[in-house]
Amino acid sequence: MTYAVKEAFLTLQGEGVQAGSRAVFLRFAGCNLWSGREADRASAQCNFCDTDFVGTDGEGGGKFKAAAALADHVAALWGDGDDSRLVVVTGGEPMLQLDAALVEALHERGFRVAVESNGTLPAVAGVDWLCVSPKAGTEVVQRAGDELKLVWPQAGIDPAEFESWDFAHFLVQPMDCADRQAAVDAAIRLAMERPKWRLTLQAHKVVGLP
Ligand code: SF4
Repeated sequence: MTYAVKEAFLTLQGEGVQAGSRAVFLRFAGCNLWSGREADRASAQCNFCDTDFVGTDGEGGGKFKAAAALADHVAALWGDGDDSRLVVVTGGEPMLQLDAALVEALHERGFRVAVESNGTLPAVAGVDWLCVSPKAGTEVVQRAGDELKLVWPQAGIDPAEFESWDFAHFLVQPMDCADRQAAVDAAIRLAMERPKWRLTLQAHKVVGLP
């Protein structure tokens, strides 16, 4: 299998329960809910995306013909040191490309493998940390994992629907949109009204990390 990677870089995880952790971000190209072209945004299943996942031309991006080659690339980005190696596999939708061979190759190089998925495709076995972020109007098939991260507000979603799903953490994250303050207020309201949910912020945007 050839893996198409938009970008890969070393940074701090900015969101969710593992925010603040050093991690290699491995961003796969492509998503099943939007083409990534602005012309298609209005008609896409997911239309609030804040990520460029088109092509393989980003920093550390490219095409990798084998799992071992891509895992070596990730390991080189991490650099020396075997402690607490973490790779965050994201996209786009990573489950279009992440497979057992790549999970195994990353494990062999000492990485814990975290994944950020929209949940419309089942997660591959062996993932160490799974974050699912549901999008309104889509069928989420992956209903178990470590964190469920709801970008909020989203018309057509009732947070109560998710509360019986098998996740350890339920997080609400304000949508990065034109009316940012209204989104923050809505997220705070949700966390106040439904204590199962915790507010999470995109800390990397606050501190200027990619
Ligand atoms: S599912 Fe995620 S990657 Fe795909 S368009 Fe929506 S926000 Fe972007």
